[in-house]
Amino acid sequence: MRLVLFGPPGAGKGTQAARLAEDFGVAHVSTGDILREAVVKRTEHGRKASEYINAGGLVPSDILNEIVENKLSGMGCFLLDGYPRTVKQAEYLSNLHDIPLDVVILFEVPKDVLVKRLTGRRTCKQCMRIFNVNNEGITSTQTECPFCGGELEQRVDDKSETVVRRLQVYSDNTEPLIEFYRERGLLYEIDGDRPPEDVYADILGLLNSKNLDCNKV
Ligand code: AMP
Repeated sequence: MRLVLFGPPGAGKGTQAARLAEDFGVAHVSTGDILREAVVKRTEHGRKASEYINAGGLVPSDILNEIVENKLSGMGCFLLDGYPRTVKQAEYLSNLHDIPLDVVILFEVPKDVLVKRLTGRRTCKQCMRIFNVNNEGITSTQTECPFCGGELEQRVDDKSETVVRRLQVYSDNTEPLIEFYRERGLLYEIDGDRPPEDVYADILGLLNSKNLDCNKV
């Protein structure tokens, strides 16, 4: 199983990826998570990446390509989330892997819903659970995690000005990939503006119809 979860920020890729990773035992490779960890650890990549992330722009592709190449090396089964984000990155990925991708799942969600989801997202610094002030039983001013009491925080790039920029960056740089993968017969479109369980059920249907799991690599 070699999947790319693809779509704008806030489309629900991370939520679905986490569940797929757990249910199928497949590695979830989220370039956003990898970069954020590098920023916290102040590694060389992290130091270079932080200003781009905070401004809602794209981190230079040479950094991402290196990260992804190292991560995927020797992996027959993976779930990419947040990469590729440009046609150049997609070309790099296809040259990198002699085993082709099985499917690219595009999550479609209207822009106003994305803005609401992203600006309402809060993460617990302690247990790392992700909540949303719109639907998770927390309020927009709440600072304590309802599970562990840890501090809830908003990602710097989820502030409203940065969200607008990220969505613009998506339509300028990442949307062209839809055609790239459609032409290659890999694209599967999914309505992401539904409860996560319904989206997950669709993904499972797709994986079953293609007979994909983590042993069939
Ligand atoms: P995400 O968590 O996927 O929304 O990513 C957070 C931020 O990390 C993005 O806004 C970019 O600044 C950076 N980033 C993640 N993946 C990539 C990528 N494939 N190419 C360039 N920048 C990326």
